[in-house]
Amino acid sequence: MNDCLNEITRALLQSDVSFPLVKEMQTNIKKIVNLDDLAAGHNKRLIIEQDERPVFAPKKAKPSSVVMFVGLQGAGKTTTCTKYAYYHQKKGYKTALVCADTFRAGVFDQLKQNATKAKIPFYGSYTESDPVKIAAEGVDRFKKEKCDLIIVDTSGRHKQEASLCEEILQVAEATEPDLVIFVMDSSIGQAAFDQAQAFKQTVSVGAVIITKMDGHAKGGGALSAVAATKSPVIFIGTGEHMDEFEVFDVKPFVSRLLG
Ligand code: GDP
Repeated sequence: MNDCLNEITRALLQSDVSFPLVKEMQTNIKKIVNLDDLAAGHNKRLIIEQDERPVFAPKKAKPSSVVMFVGLQGAGKTTTCTKYAYYHQKKGYKTALVCADTFRAGVFDQLKQNATKAKIPFYGSYTESDPVKIAAEGVDRFKKEKCDLIIVDTSGRHKQEASLCEEILQVAEATEPDLVIFVMDSSIGQAAFDQAQAFKQTVSVGAVIITKMDGHAKGGGALSAVAATKSPVIFIGTGEHMDEFEVFDVKPFVSRLLG
């Protein structure tokens, strides 16, 4: 009777899903599913797929929607900002990018280069060192230009230090985002919980994007990020290029987790 559940448990643990989460899932499954009713094995995928919850979607109407990206350095935040902008631009949104990361050298150039390639307006500065000022000015400018969707890239640093949290909070207060997206590398595993929680305690994270799903990692850590932020995964990054970006689909993700 419990073979099916044990098989799921094993596969999830091997895919870097945290033990407490797997236990919780087991308990929930036992509560809602009568395992005796399941024919041997064939319903595994069905029982761990979750209902999708609605996430704030940018509007083509005014006022402009502001979406802020947070995540640790190297997670793929800057790349993902442009992918997200490009994705919406192709759908007819008037989009713009604001680079409020003054910490990492070269990030403005990176964003500028990507934005120029995709013909997306951008705002940033080589000389201004206050990210809050840049964010406020950029959002203000693009609101005046009547953009539908203004995307704000923030600083990452190496870890979630207090100064980073403070900076992100101030950028959020200055730009009043409609949605904050937490960007995570698919290979970070269970460390995703603490990372995501630290950001969630600072700003109200409403969605998760998993990057580098083209690599070997199964992305099991994403479930920890979802649990910590109580927010769904909305997109996945599948490569370094602008168009290597997909709407998150739970079925292939679960298939990959279960191996
Ligand atoms: P940030 O520090 O979080 O802003 O990270 P970057 O956007 O600079 O990305 C760090 C590195 O990861 C860069 O070399 C990106 O090209 C790469 N990267 C970002 N997203 C993906 C992805 O989905 N797949 C792959 N293979 N590489 C990615």
